[in-house]
Amino acid sequence: MAEKVDLSSGGEVLIIGGGISGITVALELARSGIPSTLIEREPSLGGLSASFCCKASESCNKCFACVVDKRISEIYQRQDISILTQTEVIGVKGNREKHQVSLKKGKEKIDLKVSAIVIAAGINPFDASQKVEYGYGRFKNVITAKDLDEMLRHRGTISRPSDGKLPKTVAFFQCVGSRDESIGNLYCSQVCCAYALRLIKAVRYQTPEVKATFLYMDIQPAGASFQEFLASCREDKGIRLIRSLPSKVYHSPLSDTLRVRFTDPERGEVVEDSFDLIVLSVGMVLSKEAKRLTELFRLSLTEDGFIASPPTQTGVFVTGACSGPKDIDRSILHAKSAAFLVQQHLSGRF
Ligand SMILES: Cc1cc2nc3c(=O)[nH]c(=O)nc-3n(C[C@H](O)[C@H](O)[C@H](O)COP(=O)(O)OP(=O)(O)OC[C@H]3O[C@@H](n4cnc5c(N)ncnc54)[C@H](O)[C@@H]3O)c2cc1C
Ligand code: SF4
Ligand code: SF4
Repeated sequence: MAEKVDLSSGGEVLIIGGGISGITVALELARSGIPSTLIEREPSLGGLSASFCCKASESCNKCFACVVDKRISEIYQRQDISILTQTEVIGVKGNREKHQVSLKKGKEKIDLKVSAIVIAAGINPFDASQKVEYGYGRFKNVITAKDLDEMLRHRGTISRPSDGKLPKTVAFFQCVGSRDESIGNLYCSQVCCAYALRLIKAVRYQTPEVKATFLYMDIQPAGASFQEFLASCREDKGIRLIRSLPSKVYHSPLSDTLRVRFTDPERGEVVEDSFDLIVLSVGMVLSKEAKRLTELFRLSLTEDGFIASPPTQTGVFVTGACSGPKDIDRSILHAKSAAFLVQQHLSGRF
């Protein structure tokens, strides 16, 4: 899509990060007649959620991925939003009324004066290789839920990375990188239960011969119709939901299967099972780029390592998943309230 750059309108607000949160802030402000400049460091808008596949089965499973595409088309139709991709902030100075920001786009340096700055710099999926005991990066058939999503998006079907065959048995390990004292992330990432269950539904709809085992600690609800969706997962004979998390994955080179030990909550004893493929439901962490911005803007982090909101009087606002784990729906809601706060700031109400 062609880039939209019209800095002549000035734009009272700079939005850093062109994911669903940044896009929503820009659209909300535009609807209230406030022009803005939206910058994105990557070549295209959408952020992490622009890369998700559709997880519909018999019907839509409300993963919200297509909402992002709609908002991207919408933003390119607005004349009052200047969009700069492959652009980053390299410096900032000023005060609550006027911030002077230096941007870098390739070799070009752009200086902007704005009255408010919104940081919507997002998240990264947790790096699963940090959970050494699960063998990600060592065992070919241990992948992440994000890898499975990409597999479905690009190849259209699930397969084993080692031989390209259809895996008959797939285990999903929940809470990888979240709620885990051993790696220091105690928070719940909010999205990975629903994300994994929607992937299971989409896979089983397409290839019903694939049996799924969902190993979890707790199931985090997501959205209004989640309980109904969960009930449909429980009814499916090809899905086992087991409240137990395995401690380690063992690889059998002869059969190329992965062995897993976990406590069977019904029998109260340790059982061993083999799987063709293991999918790690990775949670979210603050993106590296967002962390760099906290240094530039001298912002502090929350206990969980996300960006803490500075006082509203500063004219700097933080929104979306970089302020704490959120799904797309909640990121949109959060971005709408950030846009409201920006309007209040511009009208001098703080
Ligand atoms: C594995 C995984 C699966 C998920 N599955 C789902 C799901 O099925 N459904 C759902 O609703 N949610 C899901 N989520 C959550 C979803 O990804 C987030 O809600 C959403 O991405 C948050 O949007 P955001 O705009 O806040 O951040 P992001 O999507 O991370 O976007 C931030 C943007 O800011 C840009 N940026 C960063 N720093 C800078 C900088 N300095 N300058 C310019 N640009 C910058 C980034 O390049 C990026 O484009 C999932 C998350 C993970 C980790
Ligand atoms: S499953 Fe997700 S991407 Fe597919 S139609 Fe429903 S909300 Fe859209
Ligand atoms: S959403 Fe589910 S898998 Fe993710 S951290 Fe929370 S409880 Fe664990």
